[in-house]
Amino acid sequence: MIIQKTREEIELMRESALVVSKTLGMLAKEVKPGVSTLFLDKLAEEFIREQGAIPGFLGLYDFPNTLCMSPNSQVVHGIPNNTPLVEGDIISIDCGAIKNDFYGDHAYTFPVGEIAPETQKLLDVTKESLYVGIRELKVGNRVGDVGYAIQQFTEKHGYGVVRELVGHGLGKTMHEDPEMPNYGRRGRGKKFVEGMVVAIEPMTNMGTHKIRQHKDGWTITTLDNKPSAHFEHDVAIVNGKPELLSTFQYIYDALGIESNEEDEFRQALS
Ligand code: MG
Ligand code: MG
Repeated sequence: MIIQKTREEIELMRESALVVSKTLGMLAKEVKPGVSTLFLDKLAEEFIREQGAIPGFLGLYDFPNTLCMSPNSQVVHGIPNNTPLVEGDIISIDCGAIKNDFYGDHAYTFPVGEIAPETQKLLDVTKESLYVGIRELKVGNRVGDVGYAIQQFTEKHGYGVVRELVGHGLGKTMHEDPEMPNYGRRGRGKKFVEGMVVAIEPMTNMGTHKIRQHKDGWTITTLDNKPSAHFEHDVAIVNGKPELLSTFQYIYDALGIESNEEDEFRQALS
């Protein structure tokens, strides 16, 4: 059952999403060669608590840390460790926070120093596919419309769309209805309704869409060990249209990147 949120609840959820956005912005400056993912995890935990929020992943389904840190061929759910990041790596950082009893949950894949042009392209295409999908999140559409849009866009570039892991509704629990696959068929699946909040999160592999799970019960990697990228936003349906609750702007500000992708996204809707 899809839990519709009131305007007031959506504003509370925006606060939760922004705790995560700011945390990713803080981490953007810290992601560099030589830094361990466990170090970044500790920074994030402290930062979230300083904002009067609670790390959303820590202890959820017994996950041991604040961040899911998934470098290179890891798709998602990687566990932070003491291995230092290396120039040329990419690292997906997925972060959750609870504020006002509501979850925020979003993710960004960072380059570590200079990365190969083909890896940069994977990041660019995956991020763009996120907005391509979000544009379909409107009253009158269905779950399959978002998945279809993401899949078509992604496969056009020859990349693999992960099937086993999906986006999800978000609220007072981390995973609500509906599931939001990054593949699908137009006009299929649950209908979107006013006031719903979802996390849309394409997970895109440079090679095969197939994955494997590690013995730790968490880490997922690509079957061919090629890189995988992951971007995620929290989005509400307001007045029938998608509204971003999270933002990458803190990341861009921290890194001195000029980007008006979110403004362009909003303008294209109106
Ligand atoms: Mg996430
Ligand atoms: Mg999520």
